[in-house]
Amino acid sequence: MLPRVVLVIAALAAGAQAPQFSPTVRGFIKVDAPVIALTHVRVIDGTGAPAKADQTLVIRGGNIAEIGDAARVRVPDGATAIDLTGKSVMPGLVMVHEHTYYPTGPGVYGQLGLSFARLYLAGGVTTMRTGGNTNGVMDISLKQQIEAGTQAGPAIDATAPYLNGPQGMLQMHALTDAEDARRQVAYWADLGATSFKAYMQITRDELKASVEEAHKRGLKITGHLCSVTYAEAADLGIDNLEHGFMASTDFVPDKKPDVCPGQGAGQRTIAALDENGAPFKALVKTLVDHKVALTSTMTVFETFTPGRPMPPGLDVLVAPLKEQFESAYRRTSQNAQSVYTTLLPKGMALERAFARAGGTLLAGTDPTGGGGVIPGYSNQRQLELLVEEGFTPLEAIRIGTFNGAAYLGRDARIGSLAAGKQADLVVIAGDPSAAIADVRKVDTVFKQGVGYDPAKLIASVSGKVGLW
Ligand SMILES: [Zn+2]
Repeated sequence: MLPRVVLVIAALAAGAQAPQFSPTVRGFIKVDAPVIALTHVRVIDGTGAPAKADQTLVIRGGNIAEIGDAARVRVPDGATAIDLTGKSVMPGLVMVHEHTYYPTGPGVYGQLGLSFARLYLAGGVTTMRTGGNTNGVMDISLKQQIEAGTQAGPAIDATAPYLNGPQGMLQMHALTDAEDARRQVAYWADLGATSFKAYMQITRDELKASVEEAHKRGLKITGHLCSVTYAEAADLGIDNLEHGFMASTDFVPDKKPDVCPGQGAGQRTIAALDENGAPFKALVKTLVDHKVALTSTMTVFETFTPGRPMPPGLDVLVAPLKEQFESAYRRTSQNAQSVYTTLLPKGMALERAFARAGGTLLAGTDPTGGGGVIPGYSNQRQLELLVEEGFTPLEAIRIGTFNGAAYLGRDARIGSLAAGKQADLVVIAGDPSAAIADVRKVDTVFKQGVGYDPAKLIASVSGKVGLW
């Protein structure tokens, strides 16, 4: 208990919520001052409202103290003023299907939390939910160490290990029954997990018990499902479903209760689904009525789809992992029969229809699959893919910022830019409200009012991602 008490007292004495940074973290910081004024900047506030030109944003004690026209807002005496003419600020990304692991070998997931946390932050992610873990305590420990200032990274909503039935994966527990599910949720919540993820072989009874135990503790649960349909999960009270409609088995004709017919069987029905047809509209209505959010993770599906560009960021990987993905990419590009040729655009159309029907769409990137989804870079790519999906750049930015914060119940503090909110924001050397690809041009990432240098964060892990 003692170290935590000491930290809290130290924070109070400093009159701010800023943690005591370790020398390593300090090495990534480029702006840290009691009062900072970002002047003459274009503000994209994350709510979907049009960008505002020539604004001044004052940061004090980790929060946004004032924001308004540069002609009106006075730069406080003694403030560190930074002229951002030609640049933009937008909220830090709040993405909800992130991981601290990556596929490194056959059925094996390497635990890369330290390097991934830096890459996420460098890419503009200031808050993330991890969407299932294969490591046990690392997501929770990483969350705590980042809060304490001893590691660099986004604020983390930490998931427990996956809640799943029997399957072949080495790094997953196999639930035995509903009571086991309840016990797992209670155990991991007591250890500090703040989020849960059900997986492909869970039964309805186990899911029901997990939902009840998580909700009893005020925590949310999402799922990448297969054995349980989306409509069943909505009825059982699940909060969120991952991968848009790509994991739905609702339309598999001979679907047996509690049995996963295989991801491929579900995906063939989704690829053939009519987004204007009655069956799909009925499912959308069920999800909207039950307030179930959907997470778009097009970044991972893009890596399975022939003819797509090479994903960004591969150079940070250790050479064997980079080569491994590049050969997978070549195999994918030669697969003329791939279901993803029709499934990827169909998945986009279905997500767009869900959002247009009043559903809450969230964004995440899922650095798993066959590799090639590189944190930070992937979060920027996900926004580009939402625009390809048919959203405006401002809508895509809202999905990747405000919507995530609202789902996590943190929108009073983060997810949009307004006076009184936490200063979690990204300075972009361009205008992503006009050209979404500009989100790649990250200049500085402010988290709780402290500005991090993305180039230094990336350089610290470059060529080593895969080792730690
Ligand atoms: Zn995932």
